[in-house]
Amino acid sequence: MKGKLIIISSPSGGGKGTLIKELLETIPDLGYSVSWTTRAPRFGEEEGKHYHFVTREKFVEEIRNEGFLEHAEVHGNMYGTSIRQIDEIASTGKDVILEIDVQGAAAVMEKASEAVSIFILPPSFDTLRSRLIARATEGSNDLEIRLRNSIEEVRQFARFKYVVVNDELQLASRKLASIILAERQLTDRQTGAIQGILDSFERSKA
Ligand code: ADP
Ligand code: 5GP
Repeated sequence: MKGKLIIISSPSGGGKGTLIKELLETIPDLGYSVSWTTRAPRFGEEEGKHYHFVTREKFVEEIRNEGFLEHAEVHGNMYGTSIRQIDEIASTGKDVILEIDVQGAAAVMEKASEAVSIFILPPSFDTLRSRLIARATEGSNDLEIRLRNSIEEVRQFARFKYVVVNDELQLASRKLASIILAERQLTDRQTGAIQGILDSFERSKA
């Protein structure tokens, strides 16, 4: 059975990266869709692990080749989800985490209505600002852009099936894991496995 798409969005600094890292370490059968971006790598970011870092020309070429499930301009850079990559992961039966912005999330929800959508909401604007400042990955100009954009982004929460408030990290992490595990227990996602169990009951009659 093909894995499901799991969309995880939040404003920049909302905690997606931190929570997803923990998720990938604790929940089996999860894959991560490595996006393409025209943004420059941050200190410690690796090509092919965090992103595929490409030029704007290469990115535009990939749009023309219809290689993206969705793509968007976010905080002044281009980001896109590779169709080939998510197909590769989903065909192994793994669920695929898409760490994307609210525009990308809306586009994926339209194209793949079965996708599970989760919005990570920071507990307040001030907490978001403090966390972004403490992360220290953006200059003051980029930081201001991200904070200003967050005001419109959090308004989009109602488009998502789930909202996880990222207050205390371990609790938020458990909430996120429980959503993914619960989605896997849906009856229609287990018909194959359930049939195998029922067959063992039928065989016992013989
Ligand atoms: P995003 O990937 O959404 O941009 P990050 O995962 O990088 O956000 O989180 C932003 C910063 O906030 C990071 O420095 C991270 O360590 C910190 N952070 C995330 N969640 C929490 C939390 N629940 N409590 C305290 N700090 C957090
Ligand atoms: P950052 O520059 O902080 O890594 O990411 C900025 C924003 O772009 C975040 O909201 C992140 O989730 C989003 N993003 C990352 N990859 C993609 C993608 O493939 N598509 C879209 N639409 N957004 C993405």
